Amino acid sequence: MSDSQKQILEIKRYPESILRKKSAQVFEVTPKELKLFEDMLLTMYTFGGLGLAAPQVGNSVQIIVADIGEGAIKLINPRVVKSKGEDKLTEGCLSLPDINVEIKRPYEIIVEGLNEKGKRIEIKAKGLLARVIQHEIDHLKGRLIIDYLGLIDKMRLFKLKRRGEPERRAQCGQ
Ligand SMILES: [Zn+2]
Repeated sequence: MSDSQKQILEIKRYPESILRKKSAQVFEVTPKELKLFEDMLLTMYTFGGLGLAAPQVGNSVQIIVADIGEGAIKLINPRVVKSKGEDKLTEGCLSLPDINVEIKRPYEIIVEGLNEKGKRIEIKAKGLLARVIQHEIDHLKGRLIIDYLGLIDKMRLFKLKRRGEPERRAQCGQ
């Protein structure tokens, strides 16, 4: 596909509902999926992301891309089949700009999925790449980085008003 045919896609931002939906499996790789891969990669590079999942650009299908500077990875229906170790790192997300969350994840993974030719492949990843892939797979399940926050941090982050306070006071008889 020539560069002029590729499109920069609009990134869906929290709290758009598509980010919370479970993505559908892809059963056939057609020109539509191939174009989506190319558009997603262009979009990811344009906005400086290390990975991108299809729901983030408005497509509720199990497709992810990633590139941590070692070449583009394109995966359909990705699934972690093995994981090892543990690692903590602060993550950001193009769908939640200005929010960073420290997340504990396995350090090493084996991911299974289809490549853009529809062939079953297995990718061994560790460190940053493993993290990015796990982050993108989360997107396919409707999971976001804020889901890893504890309640207190979540309240702090969103400056939530403490709802339910009057009732609690009433209960105490104040
Ligand atoms: Zn993300």
